[in-house]
Amino acid sequence: MSPAGRRDTLPDLMSAVAAGSTAPFLLDSAGRVLATYGDAAGRSAQYAHAIRAAGVQPGDRLAMQVEKSVEALMLYIACIRSGTVLLPINTTYTATEVALLVSDAEPALVVDDECLAELARSADRCPETFDDHHVESGNLAAILYTSGTTGRAKGAMLTHGNLASNSRTLHRLWGFTATDVLLHALPIFHTHGLFVATNCSIANGTAMVFLSKFDVDEVIAALPLCTVMMGVPTFYSRLLGDERLDASRCRNMRVFISGSAPLLASVHHEFRARTGHAILERYGMTETSMLTSNPLHGERRPATVGTPLPDVEVRVTGDDGRTLPIGEIGGIEVSGPNVFVGYWRRPDLADTEFTSDGYFRTGDVGMFDTDGYLHILGRSKDLIISGGLNVYPKEVEGVLDALPGVLESAVIGVPDPDFGESVAAVVVGDGTETLDPAKLRAAARQHLAPFKAPKQIHVVEALPRNAMGKVEKAALRRTHGAPP
Ligand code: AMP
Repeated sequence: MSPAGRRDTLPDLMSAVAAGSTAPFLLDSAGRVLATYGDAAGRSAQYAHAIRAAGVQPGDRLAMQVEKSVEALMLYIACIRSGTVLLPINTTYTATEVALLVSDAEPALVVDDECLAELARSADRCPETFDDHHVESGNLAAILYTSGTTGRAKGAMLTHGNLASNSRTLHRLWGFTATDVLLHALPIFHTHGLFVATNCSIANGTAMVFLSKFDVDEVIAALPLCTVMMGVPTFYSRLLGDERLDASRCRNMRVFISGSAPLLASVHHEFRARTGHAILERYGMTETSMLTSNPLHGERRPATVGTPLPDVEVRVTGDDGRTLPIGEIGGIEVSGPNVFVGYWRRPDLADTEFTSDGYFRTGDVGMFDTDGYLHILGRSKDLIISGGLNVYPKEVEGVLDALPGVLESAVIGVPDPDFGESVAAVVVGDGTETLDPAKLRAAARQHLAPFKAPKQIHVVEALPRNAMGKVEKAALRRTHGAPP
């Protein structure tokens, strides 16, 4: 790939993918080498030829809905090298959901597992060298459809410059070196596993223990081999559920990183007590890649997402668009070289999603504390307006989570004939006692103004979550959204 030096595009960033390199790239959970960086250079070249032969030209889109595998990752690198715009699709999407994305994005090729096997056979017969297509930082590298749990899915257009700048920044900020070994158990259809984890590693020839999915036994087995782990909060709570997790198993670990959904402060504390590691929480989204991070060196503050990345501007604004002072809650807006260029074929959204001075409206609600740490308090669409007063679900969840016997909670707004909306909570116990909704309500009332205190509390076994560990509030609204 491109010689080291320039780092403006993904091919620039991937100079470690070089013919003849014996540096390990992908390992299994026992540390056996599945592919070296030299293998990646050869195999991705073969795939680049194979997709060209299948009619994919530079600038075309290639949709990919495949199980996580070494070959799938090679196809990703092949797309980067051939100037193909990658469109990864969540493996849990149904045929109907995929058909919608495909009709919107019009890819030149749709790769499912069967097609990947066919491409692999065709790649076997291709040369192991490929003349990389020249791309500029403004060229599209990928289109990622947003989680789309509500409304019509939108394709976020990410350029080479967007992705390369973010990987470069994170790589420096999180202190990656060629001797790191990253534990990779995330899906590769999402920005977290595909761009944050993979690109940070490739950016300087770091090896990855590449697991097809999060499996507690495999992760526990792999931990002593690894120096960095990136995960969603559910990974950490599941690890805590396994008594084999202890400090000695994490002895080679440099840092555990969490994102994509809020990490409970209780999980942060418990993990630290058990392993000696304070999980580093960061915040980002599909459209923007990473935005803020707790520090590698310095205080990692539970229930905060840290401070803005060096080249990223983050501001909190009020309804009138003005930047709010520290400590006040408002909409989070961001700008920087990492922020996407717009939604695919939706120029109509430019005015609503971006401000007149070019900031992207994340849709998240939050505030900065006096030390500059950002607190995420929820999504603006989750905001509950009860009797004209704003209720931030996260604030109520924080109070409920701190009550004895409560593991976690999710707060939603339900229609209320009197107040427009009222607050309802769905609560999961930690198994130490039987939860009584009336008592929980009374306890919450001690800490919250009446309009914020949940009028209904439902005790459940577990909260519904998607593949990235996000609580599916839409599902909760369907199940528990009936007026009191
Ligand atoms: P996605 O585009 O699927 O990555 O989802 C992005 C959204 O996930 C953000 O807009 C936030 O609402 C949420 N998110 C990501 N990281 C965090 C975090 N550390 N804490 C709270 N919410 C987060």
